[in-house]
Amino acid sequence: MGNKIASPSLTKEILNRYQLNLKKGLGQNFLVDSNIINIISQTAQIKGDELLIEIGPGIGALTQSLLGELDQSGHLLAIEKDSTMFAALQDIFNDETKLTLLNEDALKIDWPELVADYQKSDTSVKIIANLPYYITTPIIMSILESELKIDKLVFMVQKEVGERICAGPGTKKFGSLSVAVQYYLEPEIIHHVPAEVFIPQPDVDSVIVSLSPYSVNKYQNQVQDKNLFFKIVKSIFQQRRKTLRNSLSKSAVIALERELVTAALKAENIDLKKRGEKLTITEMISLSNRILQLQD
Ligand code: SAM
Repeated sequence: MGNKIASPSLTKEILNRYQLNLKKGLGQNFLVDSNIINIISQTAQIKGDELLIEIGPGIGALTQSLLGELDQSGHLLAIEKDSTMFAALQDIFNDETKLTLLNEDALKIDWPELVADYQKSDTSVKIIANLPYYITTPIIMSILESELKIDKLVFMVQKEVGERICAGPGTKKFGSLSVAVQYYLEPEIIHHVPAEVFIPQPDVDSVIVSLSPYSVNKYQNQVQDKNLFFKIVKSIFQQRRKTLRNSLSKSAVIALERELVTAALKAENIDLKKRGEKLTITEMISLSNRILQLQD
């Protein structure tokens, strides 16, 4: 297909041709602006020979652009849950040798296993998606928690979610999601995207977020007990108006001894009345390591 799918006329034509009834429950809003598609592709910095994974290709607007960036040694896996959409994609891209279409639910994918099946030696792996918003957080977290080595994630997400992912300490939007994502990768909002560039238009605005590996591993190597660290993070943000001492000793998630929390805060030179939401991730890690040490 030579013409750009990301245009209002071709999108409508494809939806008619394949008699696709849009399913709101699957977040089916299609990008019809090729400039936005180009920004997503450029943000992924595709080198040609990589393994790309696209989640939710829809009718292939982004798929078409990603394929154009790959050379013959590169490959694109596109995972689409909707079987009618999947059948249309098979027809639209029937002569495309660099593409494998999978009719699967991205929430059920074992990411390391999938990559092991398709990655050639040590080529880069990049995951790119205009995500259905109802699965944004579980999808991002399932990829990150799998600890798969990823060279870049580029996602279109709901504006508020993108802002929460990128928020820093002491701000209203800084929360468990910010820490959970920033623990693994460095996020950046690349572009604001208005609702008008989709058919049908969603009720919310969106942003393109890029997630890249840190040049020096900032957090993962520092945490001595990941389970304890994330329990502490959860307790801090579940009761974000409370002081650290109260949120950690009266938490349903962790319920640490008050004396232990006091001793750990003192040892870390943290004001007992400080709220946890004001701590940097490095300070949270240091506090969690201190609690672990004092527990022993
Ligand atoms: N990439 C296309 C674009 O930018 O125009 C379509 C994006 S649309 C927001 C999201 C797509 O994800 C839809 O095609 C929808 O059917 C698909 N989808 C929804 N839930 C999914 C899931 N759990 N796994 C895989 N695909 C899913």
